[in-house]
Amino acid sequence: MQILHPFAGSVQQYHEQISNPDGCRPSHCPQCNAKHPLTAHGFYTRTLIDASHDGVIRVRRYLCRACQRTVSLLPEFVLPYLRSSLAVIALFLVTRLLLAQTINAAAATAPPPMPYQRGQFWIRRFRAQAEALCAALAALTQPVPAPDFVHRALAMLESTGWTAAHRFLLGGVRCHLLGWPRGLAPGGRRAAFSSAAAPA
Ligand SMILES: [Zn+2]
Repeated sequence: MQILHPFAGSVQQYHEQISNPDGCRPSHCPQCNAKHPLTAHGFYTRTLIDASHDGVIRVRRYLCRACQRTVSLLPEFVLPYLRSSLAVIALFLVTRLLLAQTINAAAATAPPPMPYQRGQFWIRRFRAQAEALCAALAALTQPVPAPDFVHRALAMLESTGWTAAHRFLLGGVRCHLLGWPRGLAPGGRRAAFSSAAAPA
């Protein structure tokens, strides 16, 4: 299970902070709610593409001795299963969908250069997720008049702040800002059945 680690700063500062297992150790298990601190359980690596970083970052992992499941502390500047930072994706979506710039112009706001298809992929997922975002974010901010769910969701994200919205969505209601990948919905956990057993 991934939970968010509140962090604002450089990637180097992030790595320094998580190198100490006590600095951010959860006090209880979010999965079985056992009331004892979790055991440090190494790291995994993932890609981060941001204006100032294009490479690998480490993600701290803990183990619950009671339920034998792991918890990863995902820094809140990334979204699960997406390589680009939340800031890069947010800037792209606002530029393309709210300010109505072309995909190429929107992609240019988010260095390093990225393939056209990546922006299309974010837009497709955001469109599919917009109505659910409007419903979830109503707990944080007033819904605003807008021509459609996409514009309303963007306005609500801008007014809440994307990081605060991401924190609430993932931490509070287990909702992925761009929607969970197939097989992980709802809630971002692997389905109990293998895909072979699922209906086509
Ligand atoms: Zn547990």
